[in-house]
Amino acid sequence: MTQHFINGRQTAGRTGETMAVLAPATGEEFTRIACGNAADIDDAVKAARAAYEGAWGKLTAAERGRLIAKLGLKVLDHFDELALLEARDTGKPMAQAKADIEACARYFEFYGGAADKVHGHIVPFLNGYSVNVVHEPYGVTGHILPWNYPAQMFGRSLVPALAMGNAVVLKPAEEACQTALRLAVLASEVGFPDGAINVVTGRGHEAGAALSAHPGIGFMSFTGSPEVGKMVQIACAENYVACTLELGGKSPQIVFDDADVDAAVPIVCKAIVQNTGQTCSAGSRVLVQQGIYDEFMEAVAGQFAKLRAGTPEMDLDCGPVINAKQRGRVQSFIDQAREAGIPLIAEGQIAQGVPNGGFYVTPTLFGKVPRGNRLEQEEVFGPVLAAFPFSDEADAIKLANSTEYGLVAAVWTKDGGRQQRVAKKVRAGQVFINGYGAGGGIELPFGGTGKSGHGREKGFAALEEFAVTKTIVHKHG
Ligand code: NAP
Ligand code: MG
Repeated sequence: MTQHFINGRQTAGRTGETMAVLAPATGEEFTRIACGNAADIDDAVKAARAAYEGAWGKLTAAERGRLIAKLGLKVLDHFDELALLEARDTGKPMAQAKADIEACARYFEFYGGAADKVHGHIVPFLNGYSVNVVHEPYGVTGHILPWNYPAQMFGRSLVPALAMGNAVVLKPAEEACQTALRLAVLASEVGFPDGAINVVTGRGHEAGAALSAHPGIGFMSFTGSPEVGKMVQIACAENYVACTLELGGKSPQIVFDDADVDAAVPIVCKAIVQNTGQTCSAGSRVLVQQGIYDEFMEAVAGQFAKLRAGTPEMDLDCGPVINAKQRGRVQSFIDQAREAGIPLIAEGQIAQGVPNGGFYVTPTLFGKVPRGNRLEQEEVFGPVLAAFPFSDEADAIKLANSTEYGLVAAVWTKDGGRQQRVAKKVRAGQVFINGYGAGGGIELPFGGTGKSGHGREKGFAALEEFAVTKTIVHKHG
């Protein structure tokens, strides 16, 4: 049983209501969480405001940075504990959970060091004037996060906001919020003032909606589905508050006929299989030039057929997906594609001995998928890869840009000119040339266009998102 973390203390909240959280690997109750409501959110926002106006807000940038870096070291001290907690809560294989905690620690390292490097600038202006442009925190920022990478998302969304000097209120996903709660407690142990970091658990339509509509929030950071993202943005608009939305994608991996096939095949597979396909930046479409389509897909099929899904402890290629609803959703994509007669090129296996109640799906590879099909257009959020042939460069770009999403893309070719042309024309916030980098890259600005959302996370770009730019014009003669 876990509780909210508000104003530096664990609390059952106003109602004391709790809800069950299931372990995806078994389908059995794993723990219970507090079910927060609008009053709990209000308490958390007030605590954050008090911290911003008090102990937290009074710290210098260097002091904030030191605390953030200290928490990163604390994360590493608690590495095994956090990785196991993340694996049990989300069902992900242990190796993935460890990679996630490592990435989580990197956010603290990066933004701990960056906190005192957000310098303003001076603008040369009229004679007799001095102009300073400075970056100030919003005050209190709101954060609503999903269940796929809870610890990494804590790092990605909350840590730059803290580095800029904001106090934060987080509503994590009800399905997986254990590491976020633990990180908030660890923050308190390393000396974060009460109220600097608040975590309210509970249902999205209750606690999440209350947070996104709260007038005390200066800026909102949301990661999740496009449908809820739109609702959050509308709620923010009512308060004239800006937000970043990170809403997933249908990211293409474009393979030209001169690509290094041996290098590309394992990365193309990993880009969809990582975290059981539950990755916003999953490379869920592979576009292959006609001349090498058969050869390339045969190699991908060979790898797919070897994939196994199992428990976190089995530590195989995939875990279960997060819950029964997601399993049903992923399975419906697979069933519909089979019924429509789309060739199933290869499938992996669910490992022997997984618990019956767990939410396992079979990794599945389809191709050639007809253009315009659901598998081209909609995010599955599971280990399902869709392959498409294309004729030439123009056709590849047309196909790559054929969805409403635009988050990440990869281009595989040895032709330097083509690498640049395609990278410039493809609709995506990040483009990888001869590689694919889902997940990591804390230093690299990341975010989408269109249905993938807007705003930039990671790198220095995230610090700018969580700051207000102020221009101070001084007429001194
Ligand atoms: P979701 O409903 O968008 O959940 C994301 C977060 O928003 C959770 O914390 C959720 O709380 C909260 N939320 C739900 N309703 C809300 C509301 N009315 N106001 C404010 N916050 C609200 O996503 P999902 O249902 O977990 O997953 C559905 C699909 O979204 C997936 O199949 C996938 O396609 C996509 N998705 C994308 C990402 C990504 O990284 N971009 C991550 C997860 C899912 P609760 O947990 O309490 O519902
Ligand atoms: Mg939901």
